[in-house]
Amino acid sequence: MPILVMKFGGTSVADLDRIHNAAEKVRREVDRGYDVIVIVSAMSGKTNELVGWVGETSPLFDAREYDAVVSSGENVTAGLMALTLQEMDVPARSWQGWQVPLKTTSAHSSARILEIPRANIDQKFGEGMKVAVVAGFQGISEEGRITTLGRGGSDTTAVAFAAAFDAERCDIYTDVDGIYTTDPRITGKARKLEKIAFEEMLELASLGAKVLQTRSVELAMRYKVRLRVLSSFEETDETSGTLVCDEEEIMESKVVSGVAYSRDEAKMTLLSVADRPGIAAAIFGPLAQSGINVDMIVQNVSADGRTDMTFSCPVDQVLRAERALMEAKERGEFNFAELVQDTETCKVSVVGIGMRSHAGVAAKMFEALKAENINIKVISTSEIKISVLIDRKYMELAVQALHDAFGLDKAA
Ligand code: ASP
Ligand code: MG
Repeated sequence: MPILVMKFGGTSVADLDRIHNAAEKVRREVDRGYDVIVIVSAMSGKTNELVGWVGETSPLFDAREYDAVVSSGENVTAGLMALTLQEMDVPARSWQGWQVPLKTTSAHSSARILEIPRANIDQKFGEGMKVAVVAGFQGISEEGRITTLGRGGSDTTAVAFAAAFDAERCDIYTDVDGIYTTDPRITGKARKLEKIAFEEMLELASLGAKVLQTRSVELAMRYKVRLRVLSSFEETDETSGTLVCDEEEIMESKVVSGVAYSRDEAKMTLLSVADRPGIAAAIFGPLAQSGINVDMIVQNVSADGRTDMTFSCPVDQVLRAERALMEAKERGEFNFAELVQDTETCKVSVVGIGMRSHAGVAAKMFEALKAENINIKVISTSEIKISVLIDRKYMELAVQALHDAFGLDKAA
């Protein structure tokens, strides 16, 4: 039997009616002849609640117990989904991560999947089970402790199962009907994409488009899992939603496919640091050790052997970054005249594989921002992306202007 993986996010299993609705979609695929692996999230809001309880109980919590608690939301939905399917006369059973067993590293709260042996589930399919309902987000470490895969990790569970079981496709059911050229809440002109390449989706996901966990897209790209994002609240068929796939499958694409943003960015500048070998290592080493997610980095031209070093990081890491830098300065690892912080910035990016073969994308982007009188503070580029740091208050305007400038409201 061909295997299909269907993943239902938190809003798609938020109550018993919705679980029933999701189960109907599963039954339809069973009727079409698939053996189905269903991956479920916790009911929406549940994981947040559990995380809150852990923090209230123990501020410096034991990460193993954190995982024991926060993984439990998925156990409830997996059992309820299996029961709902059984009530529809669909042979189904639930699987917690350890029962599969989905083996992970022991990096609690952000574990990585090591292996998904097929034997147990294959055996049950062989005995007539039609649906394996698997609790997403969780696994078991080599030490035999329950682990979780990081927030949003059920997407990664789903893709990993699709890879391990050679599934025909991995359908991610969620509360939006696909991947859009940008966030539809920011511009009504945002258009749903029929297809998007893995690499573009990876950039969009890591740039703040929250539809898929970034790691799930990495995994899908590595194992060439065809991934479809579609709505669980609509009637859907084989053509619904957005297919995330290999770029070879996309015949005609635009130079720019989407505009992404990340709202809460901070810009930090160290004024007048010595311009000598090792200075960047001295600055960014302590930041890395403190777990700061440094994003953009700019070093200015030097005058009189001194230079300014600027970087960006998430706003909520500013205090920690400041402390790491001050402590390193006190230890004499490097010196600077002043640490200037700008916590009112955001990052806006344009993404597209077409940039590899087209010149002038950056110029067009900067023109569009200029026309709106938006000042650019930092620029960074990669092969398929250009990002700018700008004042947060212009974020919506910038996204709209760029969406218009690259004609994203019209199909290629
Ligand atoms: N329930 C987990 C979370 O909210 C995992 C997931 O839904 O993907 O992060
Ligand atoms: Mg999610």
